[in-house]
Amino acid sequence: MKAKVRFAPSPTGYLHAGNVRAAIVTWLFARQTNGHFLLRIDDTDTERCKPEYEEDIESSLMWLGLSWDEKTRQRDRNARYEEVIKKLKADGRLYPCYETPEELALKRKTQLARGKPPIYDRTALNLTAEQKDKYKAEGRQPHWRFKMDHEPIEWNDLVRGAVRFDGAAMSDPVLIREDGRPLYHLCSVIDDVDYDISHVIRGEDHVSNTASHIQMFKAIGRTPPEFAHLPMISDIEGGKLSKRLGSLSVKDLRENEGLEPMAIISLLARLGSADPIEPFLSLDPLIGNFHLSKFSKGAPKFDMEELLRLNSRILHQTPFENVNVRLARMGMQELDENFWLAVRPNLTKLEDIREWWRVANGPVEPVIEDPGFATQAAGLLPPPPWNDQTWKGWTEAVKTATGRKGKDLFMPLRKALTGMDHGPELAVLLPLIGREKALNRLKKAA
Ligand code: GLU
Repeated sequence: MKAKVRFAPSPTGYLHAGNVRAAIVTWLFARQTNGHFLLRIDDTDTERCKPEYEEDIESSLMWLGLSWDEKTRQRDRNARYEEVIKKLKADGRLYPCYETPEELALKRKTQLARGKPPIYDRTALNLTAEQKDKYKAEGRQPHWRFKMDHEPIEWNDLVRGAVRFDGAAMSDPVLIREDGRPLYHLCSVIDDVDYDISHVIRGEDHVSNTASHIQMFKAIGRTPPEFAHLPMISDIEGGKLSKRLGSLSVKDLRENEGLEPMAIISLLARLGSADPIEPFLSLDPLIGNFHLSKFSKGAPKFDMEELLRLNSRILHQTPFENVNVRLARMGMQELDENFWLAVRPNLTKLEDIREWWRVANGPVEPVIEDPGFATQAAGLLPPPPWNDQTWKGWTEAVKTATGRKGKDLFMPLRKALTGMDHGPELAVLLPLIGREKALNRLKKAA
């Protein structure tokens, strides 16, 4: 069966790792069923939503390779929402309430003090026409609640298994604000109906919303879709990941951390599932193996170290043609395949290559403490061609000739060749520096 699914972020901040997981899982599910992936921008909260966040959602998804088949925005669908609202009002499923936030808070407090659950008491259902007129005359605008059916609500969640709520134990949710604007819940259900969504895949924080949404689907006259609620990702200490919003946006991982998109995909596609987390170079091999039932109910931990390990393992396998444009944009136009293949096993982030490039090509300020030793070593440099065995052969010859070994042998050579006492592996680096530059650096003080 071809699934029709949606990823429905709210553009109230930069796209966050926790949210991206829902996007990846939803995307893989769509692709595996040869289905349809809808990007839905949930922008009913006009105060908090910003165009720059919507742009960020799109550019982040594109960077990750999560292409969408269709896009919609809730802001553009008000006329349709009004139509459904009219029907629900006529059916008595939406009813006007006049309590102020203070009055509601007081009610809750009283209920809690009496040991009762803080469920809305439906006072508004019993208001007479005169009472309503009186409120209106006072200038109060109603907000509207959805009248829940007091009956059990059950569904078979594709991740959590059987889930059961009792409609009688839930507050009637507010669906329309005082200013007349509908809230996310109603818009989401209407969209899921109109776009024929077959599966709603989203975070566990929506489980209780789903219970009321199921009744809304029925009130609109539609069978609810299937649901899958993914557990929230926690940070390595078990805390809530979303609290660290700024630090784990895709934008940050891309621009500040300089990570590969496939490292993020490789981690989040498998995190908390029965399949092993492995480095993938493209999304395709993840599609075939994907199944929602492999995800467990427990909150998985997001480990930055693991992400970095994946990033380096991905770089180690990345062919030159996948990075050459980026390297050129980073200012290393002359960096060739030979250099890339020699250096890539040493990279954690692509950015690390800058240092290798600089040390190989200069500028390097050689540090020479014992000019005699450096000159002697220079005289022992073998003739070209050089390869990854050249360093070993050369240092053995220098060792034999000078009697130096260990740090006394290697450190002065490193400092002369690179100007530093640490850095990239010299066996790899020496052939990239080449005989001419190596000779010049060793002879600097001679
Ligand atoms: N905008 C909601 C969110 O970001 C959408 C949840 C959903 O229905 O998928 O949490």
